[in-house]
Amino acid sequence: MKHQLATDLVHAARQGATAGGWHVPPIDLSTTYPTPNPAEASASLDAFVEGQASAANPVYSRLHNGTVRHFETAMAKLEGCEDAVAFASGMAAISALILAAGGSGNKHIVAVRPVYGGSDHLLSCGLLGNQVSWVEADQVAAAIRPDTALVMVETPANPTLKLVDIAAIVAQAGEVPVAVDSTFATPVLQQPIKHGAALVIHSATKFLGGHGDVLSGVVACSQDWAARLRQVRILTGANLHPLGAYLLIRGLATLRLRVLAAQANALELAGRLSAHPLVDRVYFPGMSGSAAQRCLFQRQMSGPGSVLAFTLRGDALAAETLIAGLQLITPAVSLGSVDTLIQRPAGLTHRIVDAEALAGSGVSPNLLRLSVGIEYLEDLWADLEQAMSKAIEPTHLAA
Ligand SMILES: *Cc1c(COP(=O)(O)O)cnc(C)c1O
Repeated sequence: MKHQLATDLVHAARQGATAGGWHVPPIDLSTTYPTPNPAEASASLDAFVEGQASAANPVYSRLHNGTVRHFETAMAKLEGCEDAVAFASGMAAISALILAAGGSGNKHIVAVRPVYGGSDHLLSCGLLGNQVSWVEADQVAAAIRPDTALVMVETPANPTLKLVDIAAIVAQAGEVPVAVDSTFATPVLQQPIKHGAALVIHSATKFLGGHGDVLSGVVACSQDWAARLRQVRILTGANLHPLGAYLLIRGLATLRLRVLAAQANALELAGRLSAHPLVDRVYFPGMSGSAAQRCLFQRQMSGPGSVLAFTLRGDALAAETLIAGLQLITPAVSLGSVDTLIQRPAGLTHRIVDAEALAGSGVSPNLLRLSVGIEYLEDLWADLEQAMSKAIEPTHLAA
């Protein structure tokens, strides 16, 4: 039977557990599994090496882990895909994707900025043997070469919240598969597969875990892609730890509630910040940007989420002074947790991105990124207001 997402979030990871007689998927910490039947063990190993998700014997936990598999099955369902493959971090997921895509011998990737700083650096530095063409969203078709293995975009993009039109990218990419980093949206607000994407990436460290206590990444995709990703995961040893998988399964059950509560806070804060005399600009899906961006928001997302960015009428020092003056909101990288976090991308998350590219994609030195949590709204606003008033002294005002 087909259910609504709100139901699937609670039940999808439990279904396999129920079949095994559990109410909650168990945490399986074994690293190895007894192999009393050698022929069965050999056949199982062969199956994993071919990229299969499971076999009669798990053999070794780098090849398969039951707790992780429950999380993957749930993610496949939530993203509307055949399968999903989980990793030890978002960067491990993206690395595996680059390696899996390059396995065909085609090493060229087309990507649209801005993306998460780590992804930008990984694609640009060529560590994994790939080449990259960074293009504007409407220049993807022109950048496709015979050896292009993948098109990669992130929407909403980190940290400017700029949206990329997934369907338009897919149309330009033709035969080339499109991967969408949907970390900021979660399956609650956006399902890239419906717009034609082949692969959906999440840093599960963020909203999916949601409590700041698990590092993980996941790629939702077809069975074919999943098999290639698992082959890479086995060889590079990038499997997710079962405790992490357990925490993610627990996180999924409340994902929709958390996303909607944080979004309600963010919507109100975005409005108040826009109206504040010391604030220069606010970046928030559906609110900022061109008419085309707002129209795309309506088509592609069911809500703006809870990450916003803003600039003060001041320089980078004013931005840092604001952060230093906060008493409740935590200065920290990462996002998507139940608590509110703030950071200056040019100083931290996007520090490793080429400076010119950074400025070109709108990441100014005084830009602040705020990941809004589920605290009481007025407590958050009071903290921001008092810190802003301390941050803006005449010396900090931009000329
Ligand atoms: C954090 C993040 C990543 C990297 O994920 P990790 O879990 O930190 O490795 C990738 N993409 C986006 C959009 C992110 O926010």
